[in-house]
Amino acid sequence: MVPRYQINFELSQIEKKFCDFLIVGGGVAGLFTALKAAASGKEVMVLTKDSLEECNTTYAQGGIASVIREDDSQDLHFEDTLESGVNMCNSRAVEVLVEEGPLKVKELIDLGVSFDRVNYHYSLGREGAHSRDRVLHVGDSTGKTIQNVLMDSTRSRDNITIEEDVFVIDLLTYKNRCIGVLAYDENTGRVSACLSKVVVLATGGMGQLFNLTTNSNIATGDGLAMAYRAGAEVMDLEFIQFHPTVFYTPEGKAFLISEAVRGEGGILRNEEEEQFMVHYHPLADLGPRDVVARSIISVLKKTKTKNIYLDLRHLGEDFIRNRFPNIYCTLKQYNIDITTDLIPIVPAAHYTMGGVKTNLYGETNIPGLYAVGEAACAGVHGANRLASNSLLEGLVFGDRVVKGVKNYIKEVSLNLRDIEISCQEQSELKDRYKDNQEVKRLLRRIMFEKVGIIRSQDSLKQALNFIEENKDLLIYNILDKESFELKNIITLANLTARAALLREESRGAHYRQDFPSKKESWQKHLVFSLSRERKEELD
Ligand SMILES: Cc1cc2nc3c(=O)[nH]c(=O)nc-3n(C[C@H](O)[C@H](O)[C@H](O)COP(=O)(O)OP(=O)(O)OC[C@H]3O[C@@H](n4cnc5c(N)ncnc54)[C@H](O)[C@@H]3O)c2cc1C
Repeated sequence: MVPRYQINFELSQIEKKFCDFLIVGGGVAGLFTALKAAASGKEVMVLTKDSLEECNTTYAQGGIASVIREDDSQDLHFEDTLESGVNMCNSRAVEVLVEEGPLKVKELIDLGVSFDRVNYHYSLGREGAHSRDRVLHVGDSTGKTIQNVLMDSTRSRDNITIEEDVFVIDLLTYKNRCIGVLAYDENTGRVSACLSKVVVLATGGMGQLFNLTTNSNIATGDGLAMAYRAGAEVMDLEFIQFHPTVFYTPEGKAFLISEAVRGEGGILRNEEEEQFMVHYHPLADLGPRDVVARSIISVLKKTKTKNIYLDLRHLGEDFIRNRFPNIYCTLKQYNIDITTDLIPIVPAAHYTMGGVKTNLYGETNIPGLYAVGEAACAGVHGANRLASNSLLEGLVFGDRVVKGVKNYIKEVSLNLRDIEISCQEQSELKDRYKDNQEVKRLLRRIMFEKVGIIRSQDSLKQALNFIEENKDLLIYNILDKESFELKNIITLANLTARAALLREESRGAHYRQDFPSKKESWQKHLVFSLSRERKEELD
């Protein structure tokens, strides 16, 4: 059983802060939402569990998809996105994304993001499964540039308060509405509450459920897990995108080699230096990410090797150094010169297609609770995200959340200062859990091996058995960030493995060895809701 709250508390006993608009998360989705909310005159607060820089947005390399050129159209962008999503996208959400995207990108440019140009025209990259060149970029550090511009813009607004290193533990609900969050300050060890009629989850994805991942350490799926505990619906969790080309440093840190590298002509090679992707997909190296990732796993199994290679050597030194300066310099630190050497790579968990289920204005099934960005599932990505659509999603739906909230704020009359909530459900800590790092290490490895790129009934059941053996950790009252994160990881690992076990077909990023084809009868979503499960338990 998943308890409603992670800790025992009494709201009357803890320090409280108030604001009009509370945003949990400060990546592209959170900060763009903050700017929009601040423009409507609201007192906005943004909470982030690490420094403001540390988030997946900062690591985005390839760029942001937007229809700019005359030989491109919103219809083509729409079709490419639906095709990638394998009949699982919400077509209305995709329409919104491609129609409103270019205007939001223009706003980003107005804020100061200076995308690369050649002869005054924007330089547009091509990425896997895009039928046109439409990816705006800033070298290979697009995310970092966007994040820096958004950080500067939000920090300069008087009505935006940003609090870093504040870990949000849980959403507070009262009479079925979301009215704020419980937060933990690692430096003081104190729990406080932040109360607001509007709470936006912009907490990013859950790549850290897997031991091999491109994601920032912050990506432990906290927002999804806390929304689930609070009764929100979470959807499509079985669809995890694995990126085919990740370089692992000797210290075990993942460094993504952007898809743009293959877009510019990079070639995947096996240990005999053969271009193997021509045997697996008509688009060869530019096939969809799931196909490329699975093909790599097949090659690794066949050849019993630990990695394959990415070859850029034929692109020429000047081009490589100008187009991919960040990748060039980073790998140079590890004695790999990408202009003359092959790059050793493996696939790794990269993007969470599923998330907290929302409508086209970021509304969840809990009044007052909104979700946006990678934490949300509005149906834009379906079973497989089209490359470079996620930064765009953060902008488009961040803007829409603020539009949607206007009516809600007018309707709801609540005096947040009078509300009393408490929880005494959690048990005191058992010795066995004082060092839970080992559980985390094993679980993340099991998730990659058994709930990763290639799944089967057997592998999924093995993962679920491990989760079951460690699930009792959820009921302990432990006040530290590591434990909060581990509880969230266990909760989401369980839901992800259950969803993957239920979906007896292969579609997009979800591949079942025992059900290798797509099935018409499975063209539907898997939605989990704790309130529903609790009700079923009682029935
Ligand atoms: C290596 C890499 C490369 C990528 N390249 C591209 C690309 O080229 N183009 C593209 O479109 N997409 C790309 N993506 C995906 C894209 O970067 C992300 O989907 C997007 O940035 C997510 O933005 P976000 O605002 O939703 O979340 P994030 O940017 O991850 O921000 C999450 C925020 O939530 C906060 N948070 C989380 N949990 C808590 C908590 N419990 N309490 C308080 N705060 C919390 C974090 O501190 C952080 O501020 C890439 C992703 C990676 C990892």
